[in-house]
Amino acid sequence: MRQKTVTTYYNIHTHKPTGAPDVTELVNVYQHFAAAMQYPACSVGIHPWYLHDRESQLNELNKIALQPNVLAIGECGLDKVTKTSWELQLTIFRAQIDLAITLHKPLITHCVRAYHEVTLELKAKHVAVPAIFHGFNKSEAVAQQLLGNGWYLSFGAALIDGHEQVARVLAAVPDDRFFLETDDADISINEIYAAAARIRNCTADAIILQQQHNFKTVFNR
Ligand SMILES: [Zn+2]
Repeated sequence: MRQKTVTTYYNIHTHKPTGAPDVTELVNVYQHFAAAMQYPACSVGIHPWYLHDRESQLNELNKIALQPNVLAIGECGLDKVTKTSWELQLTIFRAQIDLAITLHKPLITHCVRAYHEVTLELKAKHVAVPAIFHGFNKSEAVAQQLLGNGWYLSFGAALIDGHEQVARVLAAVPDDRFFLETDDADISINEIYAAAARIRNCTADAIILQQQHNFKTVFNR
């Protein structure tokens, strides 16, 4: 594994690893889980879009999830737009919630038009590990509900696209309850940090310190 120098930025969800020395990036691995071993830090999970052979996918996931460089389970969740059957999505999401609980690792959720349903699932299992809603781009009302349950929001490219609703949510989110990410966008995490500083009307250094604190608290490093 590559040795890290000093981390300035944290990118908690990316599909495009850069290997930049000043970024701790959680590379998301959603299939062929053995690939997770090549990254200093990653998250592994079965994405509702890529659910095909549940037995073998779950077996493989359960094994790789034990590795110390796997810092979180996910992205996993529920999606009302994909063709994958709802029943199958539910079964696999529940199995991954259980896995996160067993391993005491945070859960990164993928949620498309299913905030109510994802909330019900997390509550039914009394999830005490941190749950992070990645790629958040919904309303203040949805944000309030998620935050009210003690969960975290992670923001990405929507901050740069001039998405006003998301900007309002980020402007109001408490310092200790949010993360930043690039997901599959062709932008750098530095740009996302700069956008966050603008929207929250604070310095880039303030964002860096908050993210450092949040990362250490949630991912335990
Ligand atoms: Zn993603």
